[in-house]
This record gives sequence, structure tokens and C-alpha cells, in this order.
Amino acid sequence: MTREEKRKISILGSTGSIGTQALEVIEKLQDKFEIVALSGGSNIDLLKEQARKFKPKYVCIGKPAKEEVDFGNIKVLYGEEGLEQICSDKNNDIILVAVSGKVGLKPTLTAIDSGIDIALANKETLVMAGDIVMQKAKNKGVNIIPVDSEHCAIHQCIKDISQVDKLIITASGGPFLEKTIEDMKNAVPDQALAHPRWNMGKKITIDSATLVNKGLEVIEAHHLFNMDYDDIEVVIHPQSIVHSAIEYKDGSVIAQLGIPSMHIPIQYAITYPKRFEGIKSHSFSFSEIAHLDFSKPDLEKFKGLKLAYDAGKIGGSMPVYFNASNEEAVFAYLRNEIKLYDIYGIISEQMESFNPIQSPSLDDILNIDEEVRIKTREFMKRIATV
Ligand code: MN
Repeated sequence: MTREEKRKISILGSTGSIGTQALEVIEKLQDKFEIVALSGGSNIDLLKEQARKFKPKYVCIGKPAKEEVDFGNIKVLYGEEGLEQICSDKNNDIILVAVSGKVGLKPTLTAIDSGIDIALANKETLVMAGDIVMQKAKNKGVNIIPVDSEHCAIHQCIKDISQVDKLIITASGGPFLEKTIEDMKNAVPDQALAHPRWNMGKKITIDSATLVNKGLEVIEAHHLFNMDYDDIEVVIHPQSIVHSAIEYKDGSVIAQLGIPSMHIPIQYAITYPKRFEGIKSHSFSFSEIAHLDFSKPDLEKFKGLKLAYDAGKIGGSMPVYFNASNEEAVFAYLRNEIKLYDIYGIISEQMESFNPIQSPSLDDILNIDEEVRIKTREFMKRIATV
């Protein structure tokens, strides 16, 4: 990023929670960025508003609309094909992958193939296909800079990964930290959606309540930083000020701290390796915070975290089973079809039916994902009628 040259960026998922916050960051750093493409799902009105403001070369919308969507002189692309087109456009210096779900996987691989750096906010990419994605990035010399606050923190702490003994990932503990298992079993979606620290999309908020989100993050961390699962520790830290830490061989611990705002990790990822004032609103104060608490997670209560470690350690296609069954269960919970605590049982059931494939190809992964989703939905129908 030279003084004259703007960094050319595309945002996949610009109308979502991360996408809109990324545009708030970019608005503050207007002289640093040029937007190549914006892609939104179905919120066409918001995407139009963004396009007017940020003037991308083209936009991509989820599905072909019944009527022609008019974006003036901005070219309109559609669906997965559109995402692929954005990700193979070598005008991009960096692509922020902020779509949720497996739809992020193929475009990310296309961008890596095109030698474009990735600011990664999509969990499925590494959980489902971490081996493939990281190997390809290495071969292509592409940077993958994590947006997720924990991985972003670790990315900021690490100077030399070979000297690191342990990753310490913090977890707020979500809305059920102080509640009993009984409370959790009977929690309606509104209670589970009331996250004490972070304002996020619905799916990830439920995952935070069950700590499955932390489990997914452990799997991501394993791939991003090439760390054994036994050397990744999760610690409960309700204030969400320490975003994660690492321990070096000699016992030195480096942590990254900040107020809980996604603007900071988003800005870090898209401006890396530079830093700017940008979105910063006020200076950090230890004395205003006063307390930082830490404790071990209760793996009896938050079974999903334990299941994620199991899935990660078994490896191969097992994390696909974990991720797909969880996602289907979370959607069913949000539709009030199952209880919150059923999510763990549903994941276990699918993991028990595991049919191991050691080094699954991308096609294997996508097929297994589809299969597990179908089996999960059938299983949920059965338990709902009992
Ligand atoms: Mn996170």
C-alpha cells in the first residue's frame, strides 16, 4: 500500500454483520481503499445503498432476481458464479470473505489460486477444508489474515510460530455461563440470542451460547497456526478484553487486548501489515476495566466444545460432520423445532455415524457436508415425533 496507490478490495457478504462493519472501517479510510466488488445475499436495498456510496466496479447478488435489478452503470453478477468471477479478478489485492456458510469455500480457493490475499471471516472455510486451503495458500504465497477476534489476536502476538508452545483462546462464555444445565435446556431462542459482549449474526450467536463457536475456533486455530490440538487451550474470560494469547517456549505469554469491537480485527486484517487510526474511537484504559477474570470451561455443561476437540483430533472429514450437523441443529433451534441442549445430542449422533476419509478432496467434503445435513434433518424429525 504505497501512498499513491489504494488497496483494491472486494467484500463477499457486504450486507452482513462483518461486511457492514468493514464498510464502516473503509469509510474512515477512504483514501486507502478502492472497492472492486461488493456481494450481498438478498438484501438488495442495502446493497444498492452501499453501491451508491462506495462505487464498486461490480456487485453480486445471491440469486437471479425475477426482475432485472438496476444498479445504474455498475455491472451486476449473480450467485456462486458471480462470486467466482470476483475471486478470479486479479485487480483485487485482498478479498474479505465475510459470507457465512460453505458458500465461502470455493470462492476462497479461487482467490487463493489467483494469488489474492484473504481476510478471512468465514469459519467453514478452515473447519471444512483447512488442510486444502492452507496448503494451497502456502503454495501460492498467499496471506490468510484472520478476522475472527481470537485468531486475529494470535496473529498479532506471533512473531515466530516455531517458538510457540501453546495457543490460549479466550471465550466470553456466552449468556449461559452462570446458568445451570437445566436453565440451558429450557432456554428459548431469545435468551440464547442475548449475548452479553458481542453483537453478531444469529447463527454465530447461538454457537457462542453453546460454545460450539469456540470449538470451531479451536479447529480453525489448528489449521491457521499449524498447532496440535493438545497445545490449544480455551479459557473463559467473561469481559472479552483479552482476545487471545500465546505462550512461548520460555514461559513468556503475549496477549492481545482491546475493547470488544469487531471493527478493530476487521481493520487489522484488511490493512495488514499497516496500522491506521481509522475507526478507533477512544484510547484503551486498564483502570476503566478494573477486572479481568479467567476460569476453565465446564466441558460437562458445554459438551459441544469437547465434541469439537474430538472432531478435530480425529481429523479427515470428521470436522465436516461436526460443522454440518451443528448448523442444521442451530437452524432447527431458531425455528423452535428442538431444544437448545438437543444440539449436542444431534452432533454426537452424526459423529458416531462417521465414515472416515483420511484426506478428503474438495468434492468429497462438499458431498459429505450435504449427506450429513440430510441425515441430521431426518434424525431431527425422528426425535421430534418421539
Ligand atoms: Mn470469535
